[in-house]
Amino acid sequence: MMKTYGFAATSCDAPLAPFSFERRELRDNDIAMDILYCGVCHSDLHQARNDWGWSQYPMVPGHEIVGRVTATGKAVTRYKVGDAVAVGCMVDSCQTCDQCRKGEEQLCRAGNTQTYNDKDRITGERTYGGYSKHLVVREEFALKVPETLDLSRAAPLLCAGITTYSPLRTWNVGPGSRVGVIGLGGLGHMAVKLASGMGADVTVLSRSNAKEKDALALGADRLLVSTDEAAMAKAASSFDLIIDTVPVKHDLNPYMPLLDVDGTLVLVGQVGPLNEPSTVPLIMGRRRIAGSPIGGIAQTQEMLDFCGRKNILPDCEMIRMDQINEAFDRLERSDVHYRFVIDMATLTPDTAAA
Ligand SMILES: [Zn+2]
Ligand SMILES: [Zn+2]
Repeated sequence: MMKTYGFAATSCDAPLAPFSFERRELRDNDIAMDILYCGVCHSDLHQARNDWGWSQYPMVPGHEIVGRVTATGKAVTRYKVGDAVAVGCMVDSCQTCDQCRKGEEQLCRAGNTQTYNDKDRITGERTYGGYSKHLVVREEFALKVPETLDLSRAAPLLCAGITTYSPLRTWNVGPGSRVGVIGLGGLGHMAVKLASGMGADVTVLSRSNAKEKDALALGADRLLVSTDEAAMAKAASSFDLIIDTVPVKHDLNPYMPLLDVDGTLVLVGQVGPLNEPSTVPLIMGRRRIAGSPIGGIAQTQEMLDFCGRKNILPDCEMIRMDQINEAFDRLERSDVHYRFVIDMATLTPDTAAA
């Protein structure tokens, strides 16, 4: 076993605190890595506080993980010591069902194994995430980080990036596609950058024009104020795809008429109930509401390679490990541009023992 340390939640209302634990002995197909950076996802906050009702404690959150390989199991073929690698939201799946065979491990019939707050498929031990110094993961669930990407900013691609890249690919976004993005947080700002990188015409939908300058700087073509009824009416039937990243209960009714015939509004933020949507715009305009989780491993690699070629990176605010509770508070107030990333060099045995 490898002794390691990190920060953990010990209950739904306790702040994250230093925590010592062990990573498993390398299995033949495992790699060990030093974690250099870990993004802070809104779902880390939800799970630390048991908002979804399935949290197990102690919990070491973190599923936007970037680091370097330090050791390899004897059957490992894809990685060698020193490689820049990343790990996202899942660390295992059955590998045999139809979804896994298609490379859609996130939709594994037996359920994928989440990077934290889940159970290892072999031993049943709890999985611990990236708010820690080291990680052991089977090589099939590690990703190669293109060396052209700035490692200190790449971590949020592993959840915010793939969660917005996947629906853009599912709905065949490319040059000329008309894409709307609701919500300009961690996910939304990546949706803008990725859709724009694919050549789409991108509109940010926001309740006021306060974020117009930011939206344009991120690559959007325009900002549409969703409380401006005249502007919304004028934009009716003018979108092929709307990516809705809002992470709380909200109302879809203002947005549905914006979709063209066969257009889709895809939910990637809110996990839980919504205000009741009217079926009138759905039925009369043959419009769709859909959902989408992360992507599979192959698609996650494709996304990283795409970002490497286009030099697409999230806008990050680097924090120290011991600033995580403050970061959670700020995240709750949407006070971040646009993703916190923990610099793991600031997590030392001293920090952990403090
Ligand atoms: Zn996430
Ligand atoms: Zn499977």
